[in-house]
This record gives sequence, structure tokens and C-alpha cells, in this order.
Amino acid sequence: MTHRITILGATGSIGKSTAEVLAQHPDRFRVTALVSGSDVRGLAEMAHRLEAEFVALADASKQKPLREALAGSGIASGAGPSAVIEAVEREAETIVAAISGVAGLAPTHAALKKGRRIGLANKESLVCAGAAFMRDAARTGAAILPMDSEHNALAQALASGHPDDVVTMTLTASGGPFRTWDEARIAAATPAQTAKHPTYSMGAKINVDSASLMNKGLELIEAHHLFGLRPDQLDVVVHPQSIIHGLVHWRDGAVTAGLANPDMKIPIANCLAAERRLTMSVPRLDLAAIGGFTFEAPDEARFPCLRLARAALAAGGGMPAVLNGANEVAVEAFLSGRAGFGDIPRVVEETCAAFAGQAGYEPATVEDALALDREARRIAAGFLPAVSRPAV
Ligand code: NDP
Ligand code: MG
Repeated sequence: MTHRITILGATGSIGKSTAEVLAQHPDRFRVTALVSGSDVRGLAEMAHRLEAEFVALADASKQKPLREALAGSGIASGAGPSAVIEAVEREAETIVAAISGVAGLAPTHAALKKGRRIGLANKESLVCAGAAFMRDAARTGAAILPMDSEHNALAQALASGHPDDVVTMTLTASGGPFRTWDEARIAAATPAQTAKHPTYSMGAKINVDSASLMNKGLELIEAHHLFGLRPDQLDVVVHPQSIIHGLVHWRDGAVTAGLANPDMKIPIANCLAAERRLTMSVPRLDLAAIGGFTFEAPDEARFPCLRLARAALAAGGGMPAVLNGANEVAVEAFLSGRAGFGDIPRVVEETCAAFAGQAGYEPATVEDALALDREARRIAAGFLPAVSRPAV
């Protein structure tokens, strides 16, 4: 039976890797819909190649050029929020949720409300609205399959035992491009330098988060919601080779680890598989060629974003949504030259401090979480530097 797939964030790094996985199994999958932000050419090219039924752009002003780019193809299209929802609601077995940032929350939640199987790459959805999101998934029967490499490895490792026997879980971090840099050099880093990730090729926002280690902090919060563990049951170790992605520590002292070459096609294939694994033409993991693994503790003094994310996780309630909204504002400002790299943890810390009085507030619904996100963004914008600097 062919399996129908819809990709949210099709033109991005995860979207393109998903397309590569599908291309290796043309008889097994069919593409229902593709969604992206504003990239008309990228979306139209992919729609032709994957023979999608329907495509949607979030940017409503791109309706006409999109229609022109698809003329004669028989592929239906739309632009704007209602077209995105139409894409989500078309019949498909699996939705790959790979829009970057909180912009992915509403479409992913719409898929979840339909009870779809969701390959979840968009970690910001869980960070912003984790409790409500997971509650709605349980209510509608939507299966959430973790696509983030660490969580995918953890989910696979978990299958070797009973969830109640888990003591802790460890997520590995590559350490990012600034792993060996001193504090002053990190604070002055440029957007171009954040793009040089040592082991993965990714979108601009996650590149910055990986360089600041905010990505690992967001992933701790993601793991908390996906696996139902307390904050003190989750830790991070820096592993620059990015071969071990996650470790489950069991009550008998055994540890099950998930290993793979750092290639997102591998966790994506794992999420798209049904009962049997997909055959993938990827290089075999060659431990002798790698030679050795190294590990170090993360340095929260040089990478304060990890400390701030841990604090937000420990505070619970709406604090992760505040942290995430402030981080998105600061990262956007950094990428457009309106803030320095060192401003990112400062803006996040000041924004979280501004919300300290509301620490007990837990958004009851995804809509409440999105309202808190908007409020956090408004406050965070006020903490951005007044003077702009040139982007490099
Ligand atoms: P990219 O920046 O490469 O791609 C983002 C995608 O989202 C693009 O297709 C973009 O469209 C689309 N998009 C942006 N805004 C909107 C919007 N408002 N509505 C609809 N579509 C939108 O990001 P990545 O692929 O790197 O990351 C995607 C998600 O996956 C993130 O949450 C990230 O944390 C997570 N992830 C990524 C990993 C990776 O290796 N890249 C690994 C693990 C998790 P357009 O091109 O038109 O702008
Ligand atoms: Mg990851």
C-alpha cells in the first residue's frame, strides 16, 4: 500500500532530506501536499519532482507567482493561512512537521487535531506548548514520532525495555562551531560563523541555536514532554563526533544507546517507516574509520543559553514558551544584524526575568501558549540593542 505524506517546511533542510528519503522509495510513498513559507521556485520545483497533489505557501502575496510556476502541471495550489490548513487536512497517513520556529505550531497542531501520525522535527512546538500539545495528541490519538536525531535515538533505545525502568536519559551535543572558543570570541561571533556546524547542514535558525547550545536546551524541554521524564532525569554530554545521539540509563545499570552517522535522513527514514525499517542507501557506520569517541561536560558559563533553558524547564508552566519566544526574537535580530551573538542569552535572560512573577501560569491550550509567545516576543523586542550593527 502506498503511504501518503505531507511535508510542512518542504523547502527547508529537513524538508529536502525528507524528499531524498522519499526518492529512494518511489513505489512506497506518495506526496499529498507540500507547504513552505515564501519560496515559490523551491516549492514548485519540489512539487513537480515529487508529483505532489497540492502545494501551499504561508505567504498570501505569492498566490499568483505560485500558480504561474505550476501552470499546466495539474498540481493544485493556494497561499495564505487557509491554504496551509487545507494542505494539512488533505488525506495523508503521515505529516512531517519541519517548519522552523513557533510558526510551525499552528499547522502542526491542526494535523494533530486530525489524529494524524506526525514526524516531529519542529521542536519549538513542544517547547512553546508541550503540555497542551501532548494532551491534545493523547485525546485525538495522533502518534508523535520524534524526528530530532537525539529523540529519535532515545525512542529507539527505549524500545529495549519498559519505560518505568528508565532512570535517566542523556542527550548528546556536538558542541557546535564555538565549542573550543573563549567567552569574548563567542560573544562577538557573526551569523556566517554560526553557519559552519561541524557535523550537520541545517537551517539558519537552528544553526544559531546549535552554536549557542540553546538547541540542546530546547531539546531537553522536548525530551521532557515526549518521554514524560522530570527535568532532573535529563542531562547533556558534549560528543563532538555526533555518532551517539542519545542514551537511556536503566535501573539495573545497563545503558542503551542510539548510534548512527550524523545524517538526518536516518531518523527521518525511521519515522516514515511503518512495521519494517526502510532500506536506505547511506554509508555504513564505520567505527574503525572514526577511530575514537570523545565526551566532555557542557560549559554553561561559556554557553549560558543551556543554563537558561534548564532553568525554564525547571520552572515549568509557561516559562519554556517565554524562553523560546525571546530566543526567536534575539536570533532573528542577530541574523539580520540588529543584535550581537552575546545579546542572545542576555535578551532571553531579561525576558524570562520579566515573566518571573507569572511562574505558576501554565497555558491550558495551544492558543494560550501562542498568546504567551506573542507577549514574550513583545517584551523581548524591548531588550534588543538600540543601535544596529552590520550583519557579516
Ligand atoms: P529551514 O530554515 O531549513 O527550513 C524551514 C522551512 O520552514 C522552510 O521550508 C520554510 O519555507 C518553512 N517556513 C518558514 N516559515 C514558515 C511559515 N510561517 N509557514 C510555513 N512554512 C514556513 O529549517 P530546518 O529544516 O533546518 O529546521 C526545521 C525544523 O526542524 C526546526 O524546528 C528545527 O529545529 C528542526 N530540526 C532541524 C534539524 C536539521 O538538521 N535541520 C535537526 C533537528 C530538528 P521557505 O523556504 O519558503 O522560507
Ligand atoms: Mg537534535
